[in-house]
Amino acid sequence: ATSDKQASPKPPPSPSPLRNSKFCQSNMRILISGGAGFIGSHLVDKLMENEKNEVIVADNYFTGSKDNLKKWIGHPRFELIRHDVTEPLLIEVDQIYHLACPASPIFYKYNPVKTIKTNVIGTLNMLGLAKRVGARILLTSTSEVYGDPLIHPQPESYWGNVNPIGVRSCYDEGKRVAETLMFDYHRQHGIEIRIARIFNTYGPRMNIDDGRVVSNFIAQALRGEALTVQKPGTQTRSFCYVSDMVDGLMRLMEGDDTGPINIGNPGEFTMVELAETVKELINPSIEIKMVENTPDDPRQRKPDITKAKEVLGWEPKVKLRDGLPLMEEDFRLRLGVPKN
Ligand code: NAD
Ligand code: UDP
Ligand code: UDP
Repeated sequence: ATSDKQASPKPPPSPSPLRNSKFCQSNMRILISGGAGFIGSHLVDKLMENEKNEVIVADNYFTGSKDNLKKWIGHPRFELIRHDVTEPLLIEVDQIYHLACPASPIFYKYNPVKTIKTNVIGTLNMLGLAKRVGARILLTSTSEVYGDPLIHPQPESYWGNVNPIGVRSCYDEGKRVAETLMFDYHRQHGIEIRIARIFNTYGPRMNIDDGRVVSNFIAQALRGEALTVQKPGTQTRSFCYVSDMVDGLMRLMEGDDTGPINIGNPGEFTMVELAETVKELINPSIEIKMVENTPDDPRQRKPDITKAKEVLGWEPKVKLRDGLPLMEEDFRLRLGVPKN
């Protein structure tokens, strides 16, 4: 018998060359919807490190950008497609990381009907694709499925406290339907599913003006503007650094548990505490001012990550005080504000 290494350079004809070829048996073709965005582009970087992975990104560039992927454009194992997930997509892949959806409140509220279409029709299309090609699919759901939670911290078993008709509903109810679709395709069609419930994540490449609290505070501190704490300022969030997030998502995809599994950092801060930390680390001369809040803002949020620890052997490594300076460095470069 000839070994693979000595095989002829011409692969035998095959209807699905990558998936069926003897050459590439262990290769993995991975689709990342929303891969031009913040978390998606970091996930691309990590997946591209493995030479057996071929990565395809499908993105409509609503909140993402080609710039986030510039180091991979032209790479033989990488492909970027301008595509809106609310339209069908016919390709051949082994795994799907389905991230496509704006994550910042100002962007998901900008066109709420589009947001809910992205969550519902977009997820349906990704599931139809997974079913046709037999791919495993991971959905990036959100801690917003817990709404304004009445249980603290939030375990996966909590069903949530969500307003179905509010201004955030296109996002949180949209993600709840997306989770339902995932489980119905799993039960009805045997699709291999994975659901991550992501808690607030931060790091380099966040849109500078995307309106989320960490990016706002860092940009404000660097521009010498007052930090805008939305009232009452006692509301809490728990912030996960993006490299920890990507590690958690990949472990979930490779593991055996469908989820949902919370992925987030349990370190909990009030927005006033976050502002004080940014001020201390980046610009001690800056002011902190209280401003009006938006409706339905959750008052507290902190993941219970017992399940992630047990099932994935995962817990976050980067503390807020260590992650903020890494993000500061990236924002300084992009805003052209050198450190003195
Ligand atoms: P992001 O806005 O940076 O990335 C989302 C990407 O999806 C962008 O590149 C955008 O252009 C693309 N997109 C949006 N609508 C699309 C459509 N209809 N078709 C194709 N592409 C589309 O956000 P992110 O922070 O990277 O979030 C990624 C995922 O993680 C989202 O599903 C989000 O709901 C989830 N999530 C994020 C956080 C967080 O704190 N960052 C928290 C919870 C959940
Ligand atoms: N779909 C897709 N790519 C595929 C297969 C299906 O985008 O490779 C879409 C398809 O257009 C449909 C959705 O996924 O809108 C759900 O597909 P499914 O086969 O589950 O349902 P059906 O087509 O029977 O409604
Ligand atoms: N927030 C704030 N100042 C800002 C932006 C947001 O105090 O400039 C608060 C907001 O009221 C919320 C928290 O920060 O309580 C997190 O908001 P973000 O939009 O980052 O994410 P969310 O968790 O609400 O999706």
